Amino acid sequence: MGGPLRGSRWGSRGDRPLYSGCRVTPRVLVVGGGFAGWQVVKHLQGKGFEVVLLDRQPHHVFIPLLYQVAIGLMPPQVVARPLAKLCAPHTTFVQDPVTAIDLAHQQVHTTTQRLAYDFLVLAAGSVVRSPPAGTFGLQTLEQALALRDRLEQTPHGGTWVVVGGGATGVEMAGALAEWSRWHAQSLRILLVQSRDRLLPDLPAPLATATIRHLQRLGVELRLGTTVQVADPHTAILNGDRLPCTGIIWTAGLVGTPLAYTPAVETVFKQRLAVRPTLQLSDWDNVYAIGDLAAAKVRDRSAYLTGVAPEALQQGVHVARNLQRHRRGLVPQPFTYWDKGRLAVIGGYGAIGKIGPVSLTGFGPWLLWFAVHGWYLPGFANRAKALGQWLWVYLLRRKP
Ligand SMILES: Cc1cc2nc3c(=O)[nH]c(=O)nc-3n(C[C@H](O)[C@H](O)[C@H](O)COP(=O)(O)OP(=O)(O)OC[C@H]3O[C@@H](n4cnc5c(N)ncnc54)[C@H](O)[C@@H]3O)c2cc1C
Repeated sequence: MGGPLRGSRWGSRGDRPLYSGCRVTPRVLVVGGGFAGWQVVKHLQGKGFEVVLLDRQPHHVFIPLLYQVAIGLMPPQVVARPLAKLCAPHTTFVQDPVTAIDLAHQQVHTTTQRLAYDFLVLAAGSVVRSPPAGTFGLQTLEQALALRDRLEQTPHGGTWVVVGGGATGVEMAGALAEWSRWHAQSLRILLVQSRDRLLPDLPAPLATATIRHLQRLGVELRLGTTVQVADPHTAILNGDRLPCTGIIWTAGLVGTPLAYTPAVETVFKQRLAVRPTLQLSDWDNVYAIGDLAAAKVRDRSAYLTGVAPEALQQGVHVARNLQRHRRGLVPQPFTYWDKGRLAVIGGYGAIGKIGPVSLTGFGPWLLWFAVHGWYLPGFANRAKALGQWLWVYLLRRKP
């Protein structure tokens, strides 16, 4: 990994200066203002860098609550905060999709301009790989609102198909069951998973508990089933056609594809290969973090799974490493502090894994709401979210 960074104003590795431009203040471009990118911006404020944040959307979105927006439980403004307002006055925010990254010339291309950088932080998250046309997604505010609108038009006795048995699919299937209870609708909900078990990232007993809970809520499970989509109202499950109101596609997350020159190495789930320091394999002044990066767990034996705490911690770590570059020090390897996993599975049920302990039922459910309420940015948003949750879950009123 090389010795201490010396040789240029902002450090070097061997004979390759990390910063060789004429700017007195090094410019950091951050691509993506989600969980990871926003932490970099926040922790570089007032630290002697010129920081420019690029995002294709105007908001920082708190993705874990999008399913609550989709079922009409949470107003959209609670989960989306305007990046321009968050960035001012220290950071420049540019709302423009990044179209290409020229690593050789240290430039990022957007649809309207080229921006030069001294350091680049790639934090563009993940996308669902080739979702079939006409299906609903759950990664952006627009997608959640489109789903909410469609749900509101669901005819009595409609059928919804949720594809993907990871945490998002499970969460969404449970949420649809809640939605049908609130609206006294007899909705048919199918959760379809190509593998023979749910929640492959979590211990098997938690998957079993989840199956039991979802079945109690009336969700039909189709494990070991492949899905094709004939049209937005026809799913084909293992060859059988199923007419439905809508299909929610959560399966197959991969790192957001961006065009790099020269090409960069991608590994696990098309994420970018990074060193333990989170720098790209071949580029000392380029970092990749969050869902876009294939970072590894503490003993480097496996890849991190792609959850918000990983992105948050990586963002803070990279901000620290950039400050080390400025001081001529070597960047430090990233170590993830795993505080555990939690997932709501409908009604008052949740599952969780904290250290070696697996949790199911109301305890992890309460913890999920406490943790997500705590991490939701902005005091006013937290207050609004708490108000909604108390109204619906304590007073048992319709949202
Ligand atoms: C429905 C759902 C529920 C989830 N629930 C949980 C949960 O309960 N707990 C948990 O820990 N994790 C959860 N996750 C995972 C968590 O949301 C991600 O791990 C986290 O968002 C990753 O952060 P990130 O900064 O890497 O990416 P993101 O937060 O996705 O941010 C990426 C940013 O990059 C921007 N971007 C993308 N492409 C471009 C481009 N070409 N140009 C400019 N900008 C671009 C996007 O607009 C976005 O703002 C959930 C994920 C989903 C999809």
